[in-house]
Amino acid sequence: MIDPSHKRRTFLAAMSGALAASAMSHPAMSLAAGLVKRGSGSRYAPWQPGMLDIHHITTGSGNAALFIMPDGTSMLVDAGAIYDHDRFAIAPRPSAQRRPGEWIGRYARRHLQRAGRNEIDYFVLSHLHRDHMGEYVAGLPRSKQGDYALTGVTDVAEILPIRHFIDRAYPKYDFPEPLQGSSNENYVAFIRAQQRLGADVQQFSPGSNRQLALLRQPATFPEFEIRNLYANGELWAGQGEATKNVFPVSALPAVGKPSSDLPSENECSVAFRLRYGKFSYYTGGDLSNNTNFGADPWRDVESSVALVAGHVDVAVANHHGYVDSMGPVAVRALSPSAFILMTWDSAHPSILALFNMLNKRLYPEERKVFATAVKPENEVATRDIAKLASKNGHVVVRVAPGGAEYRIEILDSFNELDTVLSEHGPFLCQGA
Ligand SMILES: [Zn+2]
Repeated sequence: MIDPSHKRRTFLAAMSGALAASAMSHPAMSLAAGLVKRGSGSRYAPWQPGMLDIHHITTGSGNAALFIMPDGTSMLVDAGAIYDHDRFAIAPRPSAQRRPGEWIGRYARRHLQRAGRNEIDYFVLSHLHRDHMGEYVAGLPRSKQGDYALTGVTDVAEILPIRHFIDRAYPKYDFPEPLQGSSNENYVAFIRAQQRLGADVQQFSPGSNRQLALLRQPATFPEFEIRNLYANGELWAGQGEATKNVFPVSALPAVGKPSSDLPSENECSVAFRLRYGKFSYYTGGDLSNNTNFGADPWRDVESSVALVAGHVDVAVANHHGYVDSMGPVAVRALSPSAFILMTWDSAHPSILALFNMLNKRLYPEERKVFATAVKPENEVATRDIAKLASKNGHVVVRVAPGGAEYRIEILDSFNELDTVLSEHGPFLCQGA
């Protein structure tokens, strides 16, 4: 159950009186834009020690999020790349001149170098789908580091060294069944090659708050924690590092059982919660809530994970806000002041997922919803798209040193200038 007494959140009234008056005299603006300074046009200011920056990078081709932690520890969660930009897909950003993984690697290198870093400490793969790790298609260039093609994360690793790899399926890549297909094979060949070159590879460990740790000055930031919540049916039990399994025995692999009776790749996604002082953040890959019309209640992993995560300040929408995600239980449990949608398709977000995220019956506090990109067709189909705080650009969460407040800045995704299109906040963090 949700704790109904959790503190009501207030948006910090940091805006000037003039802006407040202007917003009040334009109801549409106050509804859609809120506390926004539009079009600052300045270049995104570099990370400084003590800050936590989380860049939700858009290429129109899948997920990628770059974390620069308070002591400079760096982490990339996912590096998706798809190539069939049909009429349902969002057009490549900044352009089709480079592969999505190249754009992600260049983005990460640029921002890490400004922070005095030249490597990615952790790459965390939420699950083994092309829009999160990189699709294999014929004709991609090959790496010189090993026998694999360049796409998604393998492109990133050509641009920046990656020290630790963490995914849900290492070392056997056989749960709930042997992973097949050229994109999976390419990723696994990459992991094996990186391991031979000296990189550390681990399986994501649900329940742990030590696997994703600060690597540079952990003693300086004792109030920083990443709690692994879930992967492969194993859910943090809420105390210590104990876990419980949410997949029933009937869903586990057995000889002769058809794939359709097993957990899906999405249902095995990695989820974690980050806390820094009073700030908290949730991300859970492509977890979903589709129970096969009630036949398989255990498939609603999204709700189970959200209930153990509890309230956060910022939540990444599961499964790109698709129709089987962001159900009422998850929205109410997470009750964030900001949702972030990482989108690449005309159904991201779907009407119902966005309706839930915006609905004050699920929780009464103010919240903003940001999308990295929205197709014009979706704006026509889904009227609530007009209520998004942003529908184009990299969504960057910047948490102030100590974690008392955060801002969200939207960076132009059509070039590499890192121009700030709009600023939102500051928002007061609410704590656990
Ligand atoms: Zn996905």
